[in-house]
Amino acid sequence: MKENELKICVLGSGSRGNCIFVGCGDTRVLLDAGLTGIDVKERMALIGERPERLDAIILSHEHTDHAQGAGVLSRRYGVPIYLDRMTLEAAGPALGKLERIDFFQPGTGFYINDLRVEPFSLPHDAQNPVGLVLKWRERKISTVTDLGSTTHLVREKTAGSDLLILEFNHDPGMLIEGPYPWSVKQRIKSRLGHLSNEESAKLLRHLVHADLRHVFLAHMSQHNNHPELALLKAEGALQGYETSLGLTYQDRISEAVYL
Ligand SMILES: [Zn+2]
Ligand SMILES: [Zn+2]
Repeated sequence: MKENELKICVLGSGSRGNCIFVGCGDTRVLLDAGLTGIDVKERMALIGERPERLDAIILSHEHTDHAQGAGVLSRRYGVPIYLDRMTLEAAGPALGKLERIDFFQPGTGFYINDLRVEPFSLPHDAQNPVGLVLKWRERKISTVTDLGSTTHLVREKTAGSDLLILEFNHDPGMLIEGPYPWSVKQRIKSRLGHLSNEESAKLLRHLVHADLRHVFLAHMSQHNNHPELALLKAEGALQGYETSLGLTYQDRISEAVYL
Protein backbone atom coordinates (compact mmCIF):
# COMPACT_ATOMS: atom_id res chain seq x y z
CA MET A 1 0.00 0.00 0.00
CA LYS A 2 1.46 3.34 -0.99
CA GLU A 3 1.72 6.11 1.54
CA ASN A 4 -1.02 8.23 0.04
CA GLU A 5 -3.42 5.46 -0.93
CA LEU A 6 -6.67 4.34 0.58
CA LYS A 7 -7.16 0.61 0.14
CA ILE A 8 -10.54 -1.11 0.31
CA CYS A 9 -11.31 -4.80 0.03
CA VAL A 10 -14.58 -6.54 0.86
CA LEU A 11 -13.35 -9.70 2.59
CA GLY A 12 -16.80 -11.25 2.53
CA SER A 13 -20.38 -10.14 1.98
CA GLY A 14 -23.78 -11.81 2.25
CA SER A 15 -26.19 -13.18 4.83
CA ARG A 16 -23.56 -15.60 6.19
CA GLY A 17 -20.92 -13.01 6.98
CA ASN A 18 -19.81 -9.46 6.24
CA CYS A 19 -16.40 -7.90 6.68
CA ILE A 20 -14.67 -5.00 4.93
CA PHE A 21 -11.00 -4.08 5.18
CA VAL A 22 -9.95 -0.43 4.91
CA GLY A 23 -6.34 0.70 5.09
CA CYS A 24 -4.84 4.18 4.78
CA GLY A 25 -1.49 5.54 5.91
CA ASP A 26 -0.63 3.71 9.14
CA THR A 27 -4.26 2.91 9.91
CA ARG A 28 -6.05 -0.37 9.29
CA VAL A 29 -9.61 -1.14 10.27
CA LEU A 30 -12.32 -3.71 9.72
CA LEU A 31 -15.89 -2.60 9.16
CA ASP A 32 -17.83 -5.46 10.74
CA ALA A 33 -16.38 -8.87 11.46
CA GLY A 34 -19.07 -11.36 10.54
CA LEU A 35 -16.62 -14.01 9.30
CA THR A 36 -14.75 -16.38 11.61
CA GLY A 37 -11.41 -15.24 13.01
CA ILE A 38 -9.61 -17.81 10.85
CA ASP A 39 -11.38 -16.64 7.68
CA VAL A 40 -10.55 -13.01 8.40
CA LYS A 41 -6.88 -13.84 8.94
CA GLU A 42 -6.69 -15.94 5.77
CA ARG A 43 -8.51 -13.42 3.62
CA MET A 44 -6.44 -10.52 4.95
CA ALA A 45 -3.30 -12.47 4.03
CA LEU A 46 -4.47 -12.55 0.40
CA ILE A 47 -4.14 -8.77 0.28
CA GLY A 48 -0.89 -8.68 2.27
CA GLU A 49 -2.46 -7.65 5.59
CA ARG A 50 -2.39 -9.12 9.09
CA PRO A 51 -4.97 -8.86 11.89
CA GLU A 52 -2.17 -8.07 14.36
CA ARG A 53 -1.88 -4.70 12.67
CA LEU A 54 -5.55 -3.71 12.93
CA ASP A 55 -6.33 -0.51 14.83
CA ALA A 56 -10.06 -1.10 15.17
CA ILE A 57 -13.05 -3.26 14.40
CA ILE A 58 -16.09 -1.05 13.86
CA LEU A 59 -19.45 -2.79 14.23
CA SER A 60 -22.48 -1.52 12.31
CA HIS A 61 -25.02 -3.60 14.27
CA GLU A 62 -25.35 -6.76 16.32
CA HIS A 63 -26.63 -9.22 13.71
CA THR A 64 -24.55 -12.39 13.63
CA ASP A 65 -23.52 -11.91 10.01
CA HIS A 66 -21.73 -8.70 11.08
CA ALA A 67 -20.52 -9.45 14.58
CA GLN A 68 -19.75 -13.13 15.01
CA GLY A 69 -15.95 -12.92 14.55
CA ALA A 70 -15.43 -9.63 16.39
CA GLY A 71 -14.94 -10.96 19.92
CA VAL A 72 -12.44 -13.61 18.87
CA LEU A 73 -10.41 -11.19 16.75
CA SER A 74 -10.44 -8.56 19.47
CA ARG A 75 -9.17 -10.99 22.12
CA ARG A 76 -6.70 -12.83 19.94
CA TYR A 77 -5.05 -9.77 18.43
CA GLY A 78 -5.80 -7.10 21.02
CA VAL A 79 -7.93 -5.04 18.62
CA PRO A 80 -10.39 -2.54 20.13
CA ILE A 81 -14.03 -2.84 19.08
CA TYR A 82 -15.95 0.36 18.33
CA LEU A 83 -19.70 0.07 18.64
CA ASP A 84 -22.89 1.62 19.92
CA ARG A 85 -23.86 0.85 23.54
CA MET A 86 -27.21 -0.61 22.52
CA THR A 87 -25.47 -2.80 19.96
CA LEU A 88 -23.29 -4.25 22.70
CA GLU A 89 -26.33 -4.95 24.86
CA ALA A 90 -28.20 -6.53 21.98
CA ALA A 91 -25.23 -8.72 21.04
CA GLY A 92 -25.35 -10.19 24.53
CA PRO A 93 -22.98 -13.09 25.12
CA ALA A 94 -22.26 -13.50 21.41
CA LEU A 95 -19.25 -11.18 21.54
CA GLY A 96 -17.83 -12.84 24.66
CA LYS A 97 -15.78 -10.94 27.20
CA LEU A 98 -14.34 -7.80 25.66
CA GLU A 99 -11.42 -5.94 27.14
CA ARG A 100 -11.09 -3.19 24.60
CA ILE A 101 -14.29 -1.32 23.80
CA ASP A 102 -14.90 2.18 22.55
CA PHE A 103 -18.45 3.48 22.28
CA PHE A 104 -19.77 5.71 19.54
CA GLN A 105 -23.20 7.14 18.82
CA PRO A 106 -24.93 7.50 15.47
CA GLY A 107 -24.57 11.11 14.37
CA THR A 108 -21.31 11.72 16.24
CA GLY A 109 -18.06 11.33 14.32
CA PHE A 110 -14.76 10.14 15.78
CA TYR A 111 -11.19 9.43 14.69
CA ILE A 112 -9.09 6.32 14.50
CA ASN A 113 -5.64 7.87 14.06
CA ASP A 114 -6.26 10.27 11.16
CA LEU A 115 -9.17 8.31 9.72
CA ARG A 116 -12.47 10.09 10.33
CA VAL A 117 -15.47 7.83 10.98
CA GLU A 118 -19.04 9.14 10.83
CA PRO A 119 -21.73 6.64 11.81
CA PHE A 120 -25.29 7.46 10.80
CA SER A 121 -28.60 5.73 11.58
CA LEU A 122 -30.15 3.24 9.17
CA PRO A 123 -33.68 1.82 9.08
CA HIS A 124 -33.03 -1.85 9.90
CA ASP A 125 -34.39 -4.29 12.46
CA ALA A 126 -31.48 -4.09 14.88
CA GLN A 127 -31.10 -2.08 18.11
CA ASN A 128 -29.25 0.94 16.76
CA PRO A 129 -27.85 0.08 13.32
CA VAL A 130 -25.52 2.43 11.45
CA GLY A 131 -24.04 3.02 8.04
CA LEU A 132 -20.49 4.35 8.00
CA VAL A 133 -18.83 7.23 6.24
CA LEU A 134 -15.02 7.18 6.32
CA LYS A 135 -12.99 10.24 5.40
CA TRP A 136 -9.26 10.40 4.85
CA ARG A 137 -7.25 13.06 3.01
CA GLU A 138 -10.07 14.43 0.82
CA ARG A 139 -11.38 10.97 0.11
CA LYS A 140 -14.73 9.67 1.26
CA ILE A 141 -16.11 6.17 1.25
CA SER A 142 -19.51 5.05 2.49
CA THR A 143 -21.03 1.73 3.47
CA VAL A 144 -24.77 1.40 2.98
CA THR A 145 -25.88 -2.13 3.73
CA ASP A 146 -28.59 -3.59 5.95
CA LEU A 147 -31.37 -1.08 5.44
CA GLY A 148 -34.97 -1.67 4.45
CA SER A 149 -35.56 1.76 2.93
CA THR A 150 -33.59 4.83 2.00
CA THR A 151 -33.99 7.98 4.03
CA HIS A 152 -33.09 11.59 3.59
CA LEU A 153 -30.31 11.07 6.13
CA VAL A 154 -28.81 8.21 4.12
CA ARG A 155 -28.75 10.30 0.94
CA GLU A 156 -27.37 13.33 2.73
CA LYS A 157 -24.59 11.51 4.62
CA THR A 158 -23.31 9.49 1.68
CA ALA A 159 -23.49 12.22 -1.00
CA GLY A 160 -20.19 13.03 -2.67
CA SER A 161 -18.53 9.68 -1.91
CA ASP A 162 -15.55 8.50 -3.97
CA LEU A 163 -16.49 4.90 -3.31
CA LEU A 164 -19.73 3.23 -2.21
CA ILE A 165 -20.32 -0.18 -0.73
CA LEU A 166 -24.00 -0.51 -1.44
CA GLU A 167 -26.42 -3.30 -0.68
CA PHE A 168 -28.15 -4.96 -3.65
CA ASN A 169 -29.93 -7.57 -1.59
CA HIS A 170 -32.67 -9.15 -3.62
CA ASP A 171 -34.78 -9.28 -6.72
CA PRO A 172 -38.39 -8.87 -5.54
CA GLY A 173 -39.72 -11.56 -7.88
CA MET A 174 -37.09 -14.08 -6.81
CA LEU A 175 -37.73 -13.28 -3.16
CA ILE A 176 -41.47 -13.97 -3.49
CA GLU A 177 -40.91 -17.16 -5.50
CA GLY A 178 -37.96 -18.24 -3.40
CA PRO A 179 -37.51 -20.82 -0.64
CA TYR A 180 -37.82 -18.61 2.45
CA PRO A 181 -40.79 -18.87 4.85
CA TRP A 182 -43.38 -16.12 4.43
CA SER A 183 -42.39 -14.39 7.68
CA VAL A 184 -38.78 -14.08 6.54
CA LYS A 185 -39.87 -12.76 3.14
CA GLN A 186 -41.98 -10.15 4.91
CA ARG A 187 -39.04 -9.18 7.11
CA ILE A 188 -36.67 -8.74 4.16
CA LYS A 189 -39.23 -6.71 2.19
CA SER A 190 -40.16 -4.47 5.12
CA ARG A 191 -38.90 -0.93 5.70
CA LEU A 192 -36.54 -2.38 8.29
CA GLY A 193 -35.26 -5.24 6.15
CA HIS A 194 -33.04 -5.07 3.07
CA LEU A 195 -33.02 -3.08 -0.18
CA SER A 196 -34.09 -4.69 -3.44
CA ASN A 197 -32.05 -4.20 -6.62
CA GLU A 198 -34.56 -1.54 -7.73
CA GLU A 199 -34.40 0.39 -4.48
CA SER A 200 -30.58 0.29 -4.45
CA ALA A 201 -30.42 1.41 -8.09
CA LYS A 202 -32.70 4.32 -7.26
CA LEU A 203 -30.41 5.36 -4.43
CA LEU A 204 -27.38 4.95 -6.69
CA ARG A 205 -29.00 7.12 -9.37
CA HIS A 206 -29.36 9.78 -6.73
CA LEU A 207 -25.78 9.45 -5.43
CA VAL A 208 -23.81 9.09 -8.65
CA HIS A 209 -21.59 12.02 -9.60
CA ALA A 210 -18.58 12.58 -11.84
CA ASP A 211 -16.06 11.71 -9.11
CA LEU A 212 -17.71 8.51 -7.90
CA ARG A 213 -14.91 6.09 -8.76
CA HIS A 214 -16.22 2.69 -7.71
CA VAL A 215 -19.29 0.92 -6.38
CA PHE A 216 -19.20 -2.46 -4.69
CA LEU A 217 -22.49 -4.36 -4.90
CA ALA A 218 -22.82 -5.91 -1.46
CA HIS A 219 -24.95 -8.14 0.79
CA MET A 220 -26.40 -9.94 -2.21
CA SER A 221 -28.76 -12.79 -1.36
CA GLN A 222 -27.62 -16.14 -2.70
CA HIS A 223 -31.20 -17.44 -2.88
CA ASN A 224 -33.08 -14.32 -3.94
CA ASN A 225 -30.77 -12.60 -6.39
CA HIS A 226 -28.46 -13.13 -9.35
CA PRO A 227 -25.31 -11.03 -9.75
CA GLU A 228 -26.35 -10.36 -13.37
CA LEU A 229 -29.69 -8.89 -12.30
CA ALA A 230 -28.05 -6.62 -9.74
CA LEU A 231 -25.33 -5.57 -12.19
CA LEU A 232 -27.93 -4.72 -14.82
CA LYS A 233 -29.79 -2.43 -12.42
CA ALA A 234 -26.58 -0.82 -11.18
CA GLU A 235 -25.29 -0.26 -14.72
CA GLY A 236 -28.57 1.44 -15.59
CA ALA A 237 -28.16 3.80 -12.66
CA LEU A 238 -24.58 4.67 -13.68
CA GLN A 239 -25.29 5.33 -17.35
CA GLY A 240 -23.26 8.26 -18.65
CA TYR A 241 -20.70 8.00 -15.84
CA GLU A 242 -17.29 6.34 -15.73
CA THR A 243 -17.84 4.74 -12.32
CA SER A 244 -16.62 1.14 -12.15
CA LEU A 245 -18.66 -1.65 -10.58
CA GLY A 246 -17.40 -4.56 -8.55
CA LEU A 247 -19.07 -7.65 -7.15
CA THR A 248 -18.53 -8.94 -3.63
CA TYR A 249 -18.69 -12.56 -2.56
CA GLN A 250 -19.67 -14.67 0.41
CA ASP A 251 -16.83 -17.17 0.15
CA ARG A 252 -13.99 -15.10 -1.23
CA ILE A 253 -12.63 -11.59 -1.27
CA SER A 254 -13.48 -8.87 -3.76
CA GLU A 255 -10.85 -7.16 -5.79
CA ALA A 256 -8.90 -4.61 -3.75
CA VAL A 257 -9.56 -1.03 -4.84
CA TYR A 258 -7.09 1.81 -4.30
CA LEU A 259 -8.16 5.43 -4.17
ZN1 LIG B 1 -26.43 -8.26 7.32
ZN1 LIG C 1 -28.60 -6.89 9.63
